This record gives sequence, structure tokens and C-alpha cells, in this order.
Amino acid sequence: MTHANLIAGEWIRGTDAVRDINPSDTTDVVGEYDRASAAQVDDAIAAARHASQAWARTTVQQRADLLEKVGLEIFARRAELADLLAREEGKTLADATGEVGRAGYIFKFFAQECLRIQGERVGSVRPGVDVEITREPAGVIGLITPWNFPIAIPAWKIAPALAYGNTVVMKPAELVPGCAWALAEIIHKAGFPAGVFNLVVGRGSVVGEKMVNDPRIDAISFTGSVPTGRGILAKAASRGAKVQLEMGGKNPLVVLNDADLDVAVRVALDGAFFQTGQRCTASSRLIVEEGIHDKFVAGLAEAMQKQVIDDARKPGTTIGPVVDQSQLDQDINYIDIAKAEGANLVAGGERLNREKSGFYLSPALFSETTNTMRINREEVFGPVASVIRVKDYDEALATANDTAFGLCAGVVTTNLKKAAHFRRNAETGMVMVNLPTAGVDYHVPFGGRKGSSYGSREQGRYAAEFYTQVKTAYVMQG
Ligand code: ADP
Repeated sequence: MTHANLIAGEWIRGTDAVRDINPSDTTDVVGEYDRASAAQVDDAIAAARHASQAWARTTVQQRADLLEKVGLEIFARRAELADLLAREEGKTLADATGEVGRAGYIFKFFAQECLRIQGERVGSVRPGVDVEITREPAGVIGLITPWNFPIAIPAWKIAPALAYGNTVVMKPAELVPGCAWALAEIIHKAGFPAGVFNLVVGRGSVVGEKMVNDPRIDAISFTGSVPTGRGILAKAASRGAKVQLEMGGKNPLVVLNDADLDVAVRVALDGAFFQTGQRCTASSRLIVEEGIHDKFVAGLAEAMQKQVIDDARKPGTTIGPVVDQSQLDQDINYIDIAKAEGANLVAGGERLNREKSGFYLSPALFSETTNTMRINREEVFGPVASVIRVKDYDEALATANDTAFGLCAGVVTTNLKKAAHFRRNAETGMVMVNLPTAGVDYHVPFGGRKGSSYGSREQGRYAAEFYTQVKTAYVMQG
């Protein structure tokens, strides 16, 4: 089966194709996905521009109906899409099923949000004048997405973009074109007007670059790595485009002496290692108070031994493979760096062989690390976490905040006062109390501070900030 690009409402064949490989079984080719040429990206942008005015003038009911249809179809195809997701990305079938559901709910949520686009009417300081503030679409949006949430991240960018009356050109990550293509097919079949949504598969350096630099794209929403995000910001901002970036994290999970040990272990295990640690919200720094340190490390190591690392689609698997060879190399490199820095490898960190040839790695836990080590400063993006021992709560909080990132921070404690203090003083966009740093709801804002994010928040009704522009109208009465 061929998978072409969606440009101006037509499936357009590319010149070459991306091979989508199953990381659980590298002999399994999920599919071939055509790459769009530079000229085809140009056509997609032109189509989005062309469709823009008419789409902006559709009624909120028309947009709500179409988005609702997409949400329902995602649910109708949930099992098949989850299988595809687990197969191309390597997260377990349970996680993939959850992610597909999330994508469906996001479309259903934004279908309703169409009906809630509001403005304000305020009194003027001048007599006889009315002032009205309204939100209009931002225009043509370029979406650039990463590989770790192959359907949820495209969904949480596409749904608000379309809901608020924008047209879209989307470029998914080359490692996971399958879910993006399936979503594009669902959107196409739902009956959106030609050019409202366009899918272009291809390399970041070709397709992504073109989108970032093209003046016909009004706004770029990107999720991915820090260096790529910073490069996109420099280029897009220099031509005056609106930019929203979600990048890395080095998320701290603080475990205090008074924590319930079982909760601490469960929260750390999930946050650090589930989904192979390939979440920007993963807990990679476990900051543990002295009194509970040894029990916590022993408990987590024991829980890690019970994990089943295998084919993402095999029943019983709790942690799937790393996404590809290059990410595996990066993970192993950081494990070596941590060892060289003097960190103590408590468990895991071994390349594993399974029945099928995949990128299997046992989750790695380091102890006796300091917050200045590279393993605690740089994002690994794999199943690797390190423990930092601290003497008290104040040191824990200071250590948690001593980082260039600021996406999410967690605390495990039974002390209400300390939990409240941590919530107020964590320098992050999201805070978790007795919950894993990873795992967020779909209807509330998502985003970070410092080096983790740039621009306004994604998701929930806060998404309106990015996907609309404000107009202030002054009208002389009668
Ligand atoms: P990762 O691959 O670790 O998710 P990247 O930042 O490399 O992180 O990729 C995220 C997305 O950005 C992908 O869709 C990728 O193709 C795209 N991308 C990579 N380089 C560029 C670039 N120079 N311009 C625009 N997009 C890019």
C-alpha cells in the first residue's frame, strides 16, 4: 500500500519514501511513506493559504461537527491505531491504546471548544464609543512533531488549530509517519475542505526548514529537541512568525523522608521508566532525602527487576524497546558517561537480546550522583534515571530547581505543608504531588518554563492564545 502526502485535498505521490521500522522487530517494515519534495511542500503551503479565508469564515457548528467526526472515528479505529502506534514507536499496547484514546478525546474536546470562542465588550474611556475584543484565527499554522507521541502530539496541535479557524501544514517525525498518515486519512475522510489540512512527510532539514522559513506560514508549533527548537525559533522569529516550542526536560522527582515508600517507588518507576523513559516529562532526577534514601533505592531496584522488557505488542510486556539505533546509542553513551563520572550503577543499563531483533535496553538506575554531573544536566531521553541524595527538604527544592529546564517537577510526601510549599516554589510549568511527573490530562494546559518551552501553553482552552490573534474594535455609537 502506498502512503502519499495530503496536499490540497489530494493524495500526492512523492519521489522517494521513508521506511517505517518496528523497533521491537527490525525485520518488520511497518510501511513506506512518501517523502514530499520541496516543491510539494510549497504546494501544501499554497493550498493552506488558499483555503485559509473560507475556512476562517465557516460557522463554529461546521467546524465542531467535523472535529467531532474525527474524534469518533479515532475511537472507532482505536484498536487498529493502537496496534500501529505500538508497532512503529515501541510503547506497549496498553500505553498505545491510552494514547489513541487521548487523541480521540482531544478532537472531541476541541469540537466543543469551537462553540466557546468568546470575546469581550468593555466600556470606552471616551463617550459614545464601544470597545469590542475578539479572537480571530492566527492564519496558516505549520506543525512539526516528534516521534515519542505519534498520534497524541499531532492531535493536540491539529485539533485546536482547526477549531479556532486556522489551516494546517503538518510534518510528522520521520520515525513514525504511520500514525500521522492514519490521522490525516481520518481528517480527509471526515470531509474538511481541500487545503484546510495538509500532511507532508520528510526530513526536518528539508520539509521542516521550508515550513519554518516560508512567509506564508504565520505560526509554527514545534515539539522536539532543544537544539532543533532553538534553531526554529531563531529562523521563524526573525521573519516575525509566531512560535510555540515544547522541548526537553530534566524533571526532578523529590522523595521526602515522610513519603509512603510504596507510593514513592511506584511513582518513580512509572515516571522514570515507563514508555522506555521516552517522555519529555520523564523523571530523570530522583532527589531523595537521607532518611529514606537506602530503602527507596532498594525498593526501586527491586521493582525494576520485575519489569518485562520485550516486544511492545507482546502481552505481559511492561517496557518496550528504545525507538531506534541512534537513540539507543545515545542512551548507552549517557550510561557510559555516568559511569565515568563516578555514578554507581544500581541496576540495569544492559543491552538485551530477545526473540526478535529490537532495540532492547534494561532500565538503568544510578545512585551516588551529584546535580553537577552531565547525567543530571542533559536530557537522555531514555530509560535512565539517577538518584541524588540530599540532607533535607530545602536542599531537595534547591536541587530540583537547579537546572536549565522547567517542564515538570514532582514530590512524594505525606506532609501537607511541604507539598504546598513545593507546589508554590517549583520553577516548572507543571507540578505533581504523589503522582508521576509524566502523565497529564488532555483538557488543561501543558508546558514548561526556562529552557523547556517557549511561547504560550498548549492544550485546554489556553491553546487559544497561540492559535488565535486578538482584535480590538472601536465603534462610535449610532
Ligand atoms: P527528536 O527527533 O529527538 O524528536 P528533533 O528535534 O530532531 O527531535 O525532531 C523533532 C521534529 O523536528 C521532527 O519532526 C524533525 O524532523 C523536525 N526537525 C528536525 N530538524 C529540523 C529543522 N532544521 N527544521 C525544522 N524541523 C526540523
